[in-house]
Amino acid sequence: MTAEEFRKHAHELVEWITDYLENKEKYPVKPRVKPGEIFSRLPDGAPQEPEPFEKIQKDFDEIIMPGMTHWQSPNFFAYFPANSSPPSVLAEMLTATLGAQCMIWDTSPAAAELEEKMMIWLRDLTGLPDDFEGVIQDSASTATLAAIITAREKSSGFLVNEQGFPGSPVLRVYCSGQAHSSIEKAVKICGIGKANLVKIPVRKDFSMDPVLLEKAVSDDLRKGYRPCCVVATIGTTGTTAVDPLREIGEICSRNGIWLHVDAAMAGTALILPEYRWMTDGREYIDSFLFNPHKWMFTNFDCTAFFIKDAGRLIRTFEILPEYLRTRTRGQVNDYRDWGIPLGRRFRALKLWYVMRSYGAEGLREKIRNHIEYAANLKNLILAEDDFELLAPVVINVVCFRYKPAGYSEEKLNALNEQLNHALNDSGKIYLTHTILNGIYTLRMVTAQTDLTSAHVEKAWELIKTTARAITA
Ligand SMILES: *Cc1c(COP(=O)(O)O)cnc(C)c1O
Repeated sequence: MTAEEFRKHAHELVEWITDYLENKEKYPVKPRVKPGEIFSRLPDGAPQEPEPFEKIQKDFDEIIMPGMTHWQSPNFFAYFPANSSPPSVLAEMLTATLGAQCMIWDTSPAAAELEEKMMIWLRDLTGLPDDFEGVIQDSASTATLAAIITAREKSSGFLVNEQGFPGSPVLRVYCSGQAHSSIEKAVKICGIGKANLVKIPVRKDFSMDPVLLEKAVSDDLRKGYRPCCVVATIGTTGTTAVDPLREIGEICSRNGIWLHVDAAMAGTALILPEYRWMTDGREYIDSFLFNPHKWMFTNFDCTAFFIKDAGRLIRTFEILPEYLRTRTRGQVNDYRDWGIPLGRRFRALKLWYVMRSYGAEGLREKIRNHIEYAANLKNLILAEDDFELLAPVVINVVCFRYKPAGYSEEKLNALNEQLNHALNDSGKIYLTHTILNGIYTLRMVTAQTDLTSAHVEKAWELIKTTARAITA
């Protein structure tokens, strides 16, 4: 592609992107495609000869777009938000253009120093302790893995890295029964083993029961295990339950246990002073993560990972092959030593664009609106006799079900599953489910970048009419 061709197509794509952003809510949120449909429309091998851009773009429009789920649609209420925003898209264009590898300071000094500064901005915006240092990771899953590996090294005196597991004492990790699957994955792959992940039962509000945590820890100590790490969740994926950090932190502190906090989505709410109660007990935290790529308008991937003692993290992950030796070592942050991958994208740039474009007040306003929409939806649900709220509404997730009179529990589960499919097949909205105490639960997440109260009200009308039509 020549420079002139690039200029022309880039302008065309900017038009495409702008049209998409203006019209994204008109697409069916969840595509109506069957498994294998897209695959079968693609050629079996790469082309031998160059193809014109127009042809590639036409296939994108005709083959790819009909199979996309529109995560940026304000009618997307499923899973969790994976928000983007115009400033984030613009910054990502620059990141792709520069194509820099940000593994160490020398390979892109501005990227390393902007990352260091952005982590300070985020730390202060979310009210985390001043002595925390931060690094951007690709995902919460990776950051949790890095945290648990660091906890493993700390509790083994940094021996597992050198010699492998000694066999005893066996390390134990704790999280609530509502914690994210990434914790189980991390425990599996870091060699501690799934059998040594203790899932602590939750209280009525789906938060970890600290009394049962304390008991599990002392039982384990009695059996000769070594408690290594507790992962507390601020905003569980199912219902946004908040584990009681102070009580958990005190148990960790008394027993020399690493406290890692997974605030993947809900961490963004910490930029609101009125949500700082969620991190009461923050002085006990050893490591903490949240995903600007979820609810802070920064497109995937961008996980902010903070650690109280970065030295331990670096000691765990440090490598120094000859070809990466530099004269600046020790004076600057070489982020390859702060996590798993060597190669790193320039992710700080989009954070910079997003935080400057919205400003802290602009971010707060959007977040507050999302929280208010969830509270309003809760009231709409409570006002209907044939609907039931199934979990406290803490932030931006509303858990509920359709519950017409005269249905058994089993039939209600089947009915709500049917309702969920009917809504998603309509293409008008998209929501997903969870199981709470055996109950099939619809979840509605009110956190998409361009969401307005009108979208929520319209979705609620659709849910009511679809539900009642099924049982009419
Ligand atoms: C989404 C989520 C994760 C996983 O996030 P990734 O960045 O996709 O790995 C982990 N924990 C919680 C609480 C989440 O909501």
